[in-house]
Amino acid sequence: MAAAFRNEMLYAEPYVAQKSYQLVRLDGSGSREDTQASGVRNRQLFGLDSNELGACMVEVGEPAWRGRQLAEAIYCQRITELSEITTLPKTLRTRLALEGWEVGRPWIIQLFQSSDGTERYLVQGQAADALTVETVWMPEGDGGETGDGSDPEKPNGVDRRWERATICVSSQVGCAVNCQFCLTARLGLQRNLSAGEIAGQVLAVFDRHGVEVGRDRVNLVFMGMGEPFLNYDNFMGAVRLLVEEVGLSPRRMTVSTSGIVPGIERFAQEPAELRPKLAISLNAPNDEIRGQIMPINRKWPIEAVIAAVGRLQLRPRERITFEYVLLGGVNDRPEQAAELARLVRRTGIAAKVNLIAWNPGPGIAYATPQPEAVDAFRVALGDGGIPVYLRKPHGRDIYAACGQLKRTVEG
Ligand code: SAH
Ligand code: SF4
Repeated sequence: MAAAFRNEMLYAEPYVAQKSYQLVRLDGSGSREDTQASGVRNRQLFGLDSNELGACMVEVGEPAWRGRQLAEAIYCQRITELSEITTLPKTLRTRLALEGWEVGRPWIIQLFQSSDGTERYLVQGQAADALTVETVWMPEGDGGETGDGSDPEKPNGVDRRWERATICVSSQVGCAVNCQFCLTARLGLQRNLSAGEIAGQVLAVFDRHGVEVGRDRVNLVFMGMGEPFLNYDNFMGAVRLLVEEVGLSPRRMTVSTSGIVPGIERFAQEPAELRPKLAISLNAPNDEIRGQIMPINRKWPIEAVIAAVGRLQLRPRERITFEYVLLGGVNDRPEQAAELARLVRRTGIAAKVNLIAWNPGPGIAYATPQPEAVDAFRVALGDGGIPVYLRKPHGRDIYAACGQLKRTVEG
């Protein structure tokens, strides 16, 4: 009941006023050359794990244990310039630079600040195409994912400055999945991000906010641009870097998929100490509606998705999240809530539902649901025995809310 009450409170908050954003240019952060004067193309250390860094060291005639030193420097101390890694002898730093190595971590080139504290960043990596992706910082969390399920009201000795802070991370530039209500879909897929480009978004935001791993508890949601399970290896490569090298817990990470069945099946095989939590963008109570709004449903219908999700070995207290974007007049009626409750109960999976009121985007012909419809839907789901949360729209004024991430700088 406490959760229901909190959700009402969240929904009661007014939308952020238009034009309240502030655009900050970070031109001083320095552009980098892809190619040295000698014509040697730079090679990035960021994105390689300790073993791979060790292999690089061996390649340049150094002992493999220097890989561990390098990993410590770039993932724990978050050093971004080779010349500043003082645990390496100066001569070695110079030699690595001459041979074309650089740290090469992605960096924030522009940021948009919302009046509600949300920040949206354009993050650029070292690739020659200079494409940018978007990453979002929500200091208050999003009301949906609360990390490891612990009660945030209970003091636990941890610095609670950002007990609910959440970073929303992108996995691809654009997306190929073509959900009809999503702005990112309009870009099409431009390319996959590398593991370093995915993990680098997190460290760039950590630096911006002075996040100290081990002291501050920050949640990660892989819910930005792109479909993580259509870039599976790089997505899991990033998770591995964040867990094994940076020291984050996968229990404070959630990955969202539109229902890519082979990806869910692989994910179910990942070891518990590495596997983030799983969210499924369900968005409809039946195949008919889901097929209309998410064409991917024709390839992998609801039953196939549910069967794959059922293979996950959930940790104690872990639940699967079903995300449900409410589209006014399409999937927001109380009888559809009842149908959704029956569907979720029938799966037998420990689950909760996160409701998200659709965020409008230019040129997308859906309607935002009426507040009363959202409330009635939430109540009907709760009456149907399903734990339900309402996600708070964040940073609407800066297009940082769900489905609004698009690689353009709105004027
Ligand atoms: N591609 C993945 C993760 C990114 S989308 C996926 O689809 O799950 C993250 C969430 O935003 C999804 O649940 C999606 O259904 C939702 N979403 C997309 N467009 C939206 C919009 N315009 N308003 C609200 N939520 C949206
Ligand atoms: Fe891609 Fe997710 Fe948008 Fe669908 S909702 S188009 S899968 S980003």
